[in-house]
Amino acid sequence: MSAVPLADYHIHTTLCHHAEGSVLDYLERASDLGLEEIGFACHSPMREYFDEWRMAYEDLPRYFAMVELARARGTELGIRVRLGLEVDYLPGHETWIEELSGLADWDYFIGSVHYLSGDLVVDHPEHLSRLREWKAEEVWDRYWRLFGQAARSGLFDFMAHPDLPKKFGIIPEGELGRFYESAVIALSSAKIGIEINTAGLRKDIRQAYPTLEFLRLAREAKIPLSLNSDAHKPEEVGFAFDHGLALARQAGYAKLSRYARRQCTSVPI
Ligand code: ZN
Ligand code: FE
Ligand code: FE
Ligand code: ZN
Repeated sequence: MSAVPLADYHIHTTLCHHAEGSVLDYLERASDLGLEEIGFACHSPMREYFDEWRMAYEDLPRYFAMVELARARGTELGIRVRLGLEVDYLPGHETWIEELSGLADWDYFIGSVHYLSGDLVVDHPEHLSRLREWKAEEVWDRYWRLFGQAARSGLFDFMAHPDLPKKFGIIPEGELGRFYESAVIALSSAKIGIEINTAGLRKDIRQAYPTLEFLRLAREAKIPLSLNSDAHKPEEVGFAFDHGLALARQAGYAKLSRYARRQCTSVPI
């Protein structure tokens, strides 16, 4: 891996029912790679049962205990461990997200748009046939509208996997800057960041989220950037970070963000 000290803030846990390995396994992997800092950001609970791919509200104390355990071992290994959450932005659930933010000393909230409309999830393989009933233009239109709304909500520290709808190759014809520009304006006005999420390299599209074009616009608007793996397995921690780092630099970024106690700082890369 690179000589630059890196962090990975988007790591899941078994509490969301579709990740594997213990928090200590993730930490070991981070240690092997020489990461300086990691943060767990599992799928946020809703107050009541909502779907099968997030942690239960009742499991929050277990989540805190898991991160505490990792933190203690991290101290021995010389790796800082942060407490984060990947929070679904759902219009109408803003007060719940505010409530959640008061339940712990969170280091950061990652805002995510997964739900396109009703129970339709934009990155769920089992929803692909339903997604294909939409025009690509409609998928992107709807997604980026929600993305902008989420960014402007002021509830998040940075937004996850910005151009997620490309995951299965659903991409509209023509110039995509029209979607990116309004998203970057929303991020900029809310003064929040984004991530390069290397999970896309493991999916059909074989690209990190977001594209270089998006990153260049974000860089021009001075949007803070972090580099994350979205690991759902221990071996995915720090996945393709050399590639991600090169992408950040190619877009003109000279710094990456660090998060602690919901404050953003940065380190040179
Ligand atoms: Zn997940
Ligand atoms: Fe996500
Ligand atoms: Fe994730
Ligand atoms: Zn994610």
